[in-house]
Amino acid sequence: MGRPEFNSNGRGNGFKSHGNGRGFGDRRGRGGFGDRGGRGGFGGGRGGRGGFGDRGGRGGFGDRGNRGGFGDRGGRGGRGGRGGRGGPKAGLGMRGGKNVIVEPHRHEGVFIVKGKEDALATLNMVPGDSVYGEKRVSVETNGVSTEYRVWNPFRSKLAAAIMGGIENIHIKPGSKLLYLGAASGTTVSHCSDLVGPEGLVYAVEFSHRSGRDLLGVAKKRPNIIPIVDDARHPHKYRMLVGMVDNVFSDVAQSDSTRILSLNAQYFLKSGGHIILSIKASCIDSTAQPEAVFAEEAQKLKQDGFKLKEQVSLEPYERDHADLFFKDKLTISLCEHCRNLPFKENVDLIKVEETYQCSACFGLFDDEILKKICLETDLKIKEEGYDATSFIFALNLPVSFFLREHILGKVYLKKNSNISLKQEAAEYFMNHINFNFGLKPTLASDFTITITLENKELDEKDSEFLLFNFPKDYISGKRKNCDAKELITSSFTKMKIAQFGSKITEEMAKKYNMISPTQKVIYSILLEREAVFIGGRYCKFSRCLSQSPWSIGIGVPAIPGCSVSELIGETLKNFTKADSYKLLASGREDIDVRMLGTGRPFAIELKNCRKVKDIPIYNSLVGKMKDNCKMLEDKINSSSVDIKINSLVRVSQKEVESLLEGQEEKEKSYRAFCYSKVPISGDLIRSLHDKAPIEIIQKTPVRVLKRRSLLDRPRTIITMSALPMDEHHFHLRLTTQAGTYIKEFVHGDFGRTRPCLSELLKLETGSIDILELDVEDVNLQWPPEK
Ligand SMILES: [Zn+2]
Repeated sequence: MGRPEFNSNGRGNGFKSHGNGRGFGDRRGRGGFGDRGGRGGFGGGRGGRGGFGDRGGRGGFGDRGNRGGFGDRGGRGGRGGRGGRGGPKAGLGMRGGKNVIVEPHRHEGVFIVKGKEDALATLNMVPGDSVYGEKRVSVETNGVSTEYRVWNPFRSKLAAAIMGGIENIHIKPGSKLLYLGAASGTTVSHCSDLVGPEGLVYAVEFSHRSGRDLLGVAKKRPNIIPIVDDARHPHKYRMLVGMVDNVFSDVAQSDSTRILSLNAQYFLKSGGHIILSIKASCIDSTAQPEAVFAEEAQKLKQDGFKLKEQVSLEPYERDHADLFFKDKLTISLCEHCRNLPFKENVDLIKVEETYQCSACFGLFDDEILKKICLETDLKIKEEGYDATSFIFALNLPVSFFLREHILGKVYLKKNSNISLKQEAAEYFMNHINFNFGLKPTLASDFTITITLENKELDEKDSEFLLFNFPKDYISGKRKNCDAKELITSSFTKMKIAQFGSKITEEMAKKYNMISPTQKVIYSILLEREAVFIGGRYCKFSRCLSQSPWSIGIGVPAIPGCSVSELIGETLKNFTKADSYKLLASGREDIDVRMLGTGRPFAIELKNCRKVKDIPIYNSLVGKMKDNCKMLEDKINSSSVDIKINSLVRVSQKEVESLLEGQEEKEKSYRAFCYSKVPISGDLIRSLHDKAPIEIIQKTPVRVLKRRSLLDRPRTIITMSALPMDEHHFHLRLTTQAGTYIKEFVHGDFGRTRPCLSELLKLETGSIDILELDVEDVNLQWPPEK
């Protein structure tokens, strides 16, 4: 009931001046309860009967619901005694519950039951249940009853510290607490109330006897996780305990400080708090208590904790103190990264070696920067790219990008907007520009990529993401991959881009900013965008394939025996490319000649060093054409089996349109055919009238292993035949691209229908092709330059 109107000023006065008239006056002034009731209690006070008045007052203000009647009685003054009886009733909290005032304490989640002796209390998570026989207090507000449990400072060192006036206990609703030395769960039960359903209390107790009681308490309180184990060995229960906001230790052992520190190392998140409750005599019975406390505080300081507060537990415990520490937010940094705009509460530790820097992984190490620059210079000189500009790409460890988010959320000042990557990239770009005169621009065809790798944190970091985004982090199902591998292989820059901005400050605080222990591995890659040269080729040989071929699977290709090599090798040598690939508008079989104006093709040249002599710019088209003509002549003079024409440099886009257009184009063929049975000249000539005709071709038997089985409808657009003798004739066809000509002639065991034999009313398989030539590929190529 007291909660909604709580006002700390009122409370403060009320608290201190408890029992005197002015104090009550203050309370009344707050207007939290009825005038009449107030006056009633007050009247008793003013009646001069100090003690009596006091009690009467309590009764009066405690009662809000009955303010009318009760106030009246109080008002009559003489019945102050009656009010007095109301007091103890409320204190018991069993019967007179609604006569009590409960106010929130300064510490969130802690309450004060007002009374002659104000008592601490927590909101009972399990109403109706006492844990160790403590008093319960019920308050009714608007018909809703709320139950509190009185928290006895003689039974709990944490309560004693609150009574002792500790500034901040840090344990609050929603927080996670690791409690060492939980005993039977007395204080743990109040902590459970305090952190509430959103929080968690991991309660560790070694003694099995106390542990039994603790398990009983935990049974009714789902936010307590009881651990009956030795707090000296936190690794034993590491699977049970997550990262916590606070660790409280009340272990009556001489090495309690070490136990606390060890547990904090395991479970305390960065910037969290630890509370050490110590009894001086437990540690050193001969020394002065103050000296003992100071010595233990010093130990924790060495472990990275900062003493925030110390409070004596007198009069509730003798020679006893609770020490509150804060885990310093520390980060190990190199000289360069120490200059970043860190928040004031972050302690910067200087690393011995730059690669140990938690922010940059040693990216700004002078030695590494110089080494990378030197090697890049050598490579550019050695490879001899004739580029005038470059694109710069910098790849950094994936963990680097995750940490960039964490740094921004927790360590750096808000909106500091720094990018270490950008800074490093600019350093490299300026260096390359200065040394080689290359201009950095995204329009360049030349890319310099510097990659720095360090994978040692990948596993930990991916687990961090998996923990925070359990549903979304791993996408897709991958078989043949164990769980660990799957988690780590999901840790990519893409994932950081996807989840980085979703990392909350709360999540980021739990990230362990450990120092890298290994130097980054770097590599430099220089790459030219592919260059394409297009033209048309004729092939006069019946034993030359389009692409390199071998006589069996796994047998190396026979060099020089393909159209691709006859054209590609010369172009590769001219441009000093790494490799090349023939892209053509369809293909003819090895025994089929390609005649007429030739088949459109383009050669893709990968990673060329020299492209200056075949420029793609319109202004230099003359130079390009001259050099392409020279290359064309060179290729044509090198082989009698092929002849190319119209060679020019083309763009990737133009090549794409060439490949897309190959399905729509028409092709002309000439076939020399043989018939097993004699056929008349008139019958042969009658083929002319059968076209156009649509045929259905099942995927031919000879290509089944590389093409899927389909019914392909194709059109024979024109057809004519010239008889030579009664067994031989010449056949000319114009067909839609993709028609299998040989199969159309011989029928492919009935898989092409109708086939030529059928059209001539002969048995399928009666006619076969002796020779086939492609006469024309009807496609505009290459584009006019
Ligand atoms: Zn650094």
